Amino acid sequence: MHLGCIADDLTGATDVALMLQNAGMRTVQVIGVPAGLGQVDADAVVVALKSRTAPAAEAVAQSLAALEWLRKQGARQILFKYCSTFDSTDAGNIGPVADALLGAMGASFTVACPAFPTNKRTVYLGHLFVGEQLLSESPMKDHPLTPMRDANLARVLGRQTKHKVDLVALPTVRQGAAAMREAFKNLKESGHTYAIVDAVADEDLLALGAACAELPLLTGGSGIAMGLPANFGIRKGGDAAIPAVGGHAAVLSGSCSAQSNAQVAHWMKARPSFRIDPLQLADGVNLAAAALAWAGPLLAAGAVLVYATAEPDAVRKVQSRLGAQRAGELVEQCLARIAKGLVEQGVRRLVVAGGETSGAVVNALGVSALRIGAQIDPGVPWTYPIGEPRLALALKSGNFGAVDFFDKALGMQP
Ligand code: ADP
Repeated sequence: MHLGCIADDLTGATDVALMLQNAGMRTVQVIGVPAGLGQVDADAVVVALKSRTAPAAEAVAQSLAALEWLRKQGARQILFKYCSTFDSTDAGNIGPVADALLGAMGASFTVACPAFPTNKRTVYLGHLFVGEQLLSESPMKDHPLTPMRDANLARVLGRQTKHKVDLVALPTVRQGAAAMREAFKNLKESGHTYAIVDAVADEDLLALGAACAELPLLTGGSGIAMGLPANFGIRKGGDAAIPAVGGHAAVLSGSCSAQSNAQVAHWMKARPSFRIDPLQLADGVNLAAAALAWAGPLLAAGAVLVYATAEPDAVRKVQSRLGAQRAGELVEQCLARIAKGLVEQGVRRLVVAGGETSGAVVNALGVSALRIGAQIDPGVPWTYPIGEPRLALALKSGNFGAVDFFDKALGMQP
């Protein structure tokens, strides 16, 4: 194995796995740190953790366990993958995890670059943009678990790490890999541990990848992975095949991101949907059973949607009653139970919106490893759990996918 990735959530793991696969690396994604799995035959292995919003100490412990397993598998370089919107709080977990990985690897310098230009996440002069908006003015300011209210990444990371952070700005990046390596050397010599690296286009990420060939650890969004396969002499391969799985189809959405709200609204115009209300869950109403009873007779006629997705105002109202954590857990547990029930009812093609939500769903389905299939929209492939029953899962990070993503995904997966 050439490259080992530690991803802080499940859809983020799938995103980076797709990036590596598209760049020519044979990639396998495992869910959590495998207990019994032997040597994995792949160029890259992505360990999907559920550490983004865990207490920092737990996120560190999970990440170190993943590192140890990946090194035993023979990984020559490690990528710590987080969200392209740098989802974190002042308590972590990007800083604490990166600090711990550096310590465990005996490394003293790394880069941090969440840019993913294809999905309109760019870093310029150390500031993260979502489309034309600063991160702090984008819908990410209202994320239920990791509201992002500062776009200056050196400041954001600086509050999370005990080490010094500085910037390698676009003019240096545009001079190419050698200039970046020189900048890294200078930063390291002046006592800096992290370089936030600007990137506004794929060419910047490709150059950054080349500049990082000798770094034991990199940190970033999936974009940073695009330049890495070339360091191992790997070139782009052909497109992935789409194996038929048959069966019924369903969509579960526990994401409250702006794009998921748009996707749910688009679906509801013409297709059947069932809403999960967190306040009813808190009152003990068995909405999982109700949703499954509702879906049962409809599945033969076509795909159904079950969603907890809500606009920021509604989410705030729920959170003020239940707390963000409890509301999140109630919804995740409910959607996970529904996923299991739907598979028991013959669903074999399942689209899930939301990173945390997808984590809860694959746990409930007992999925331990995924093969990566064809791309639906940038950052989101169809994936195929290794084992029985034969399923196709599309795990969508909140803000990814076009407005008709659910239809598009199900339309391409027989
Ligand atoms: P994303 O990928 O958009 O960040 P996630 O699934 O990771 O989506 O996170 C969304 C969180 O919000 C989950 O914990 C989910 O259970 C929670 N959630 C979903 N719907 C609601 C709601 N109506 N009110 C409050 N929290 C909700």
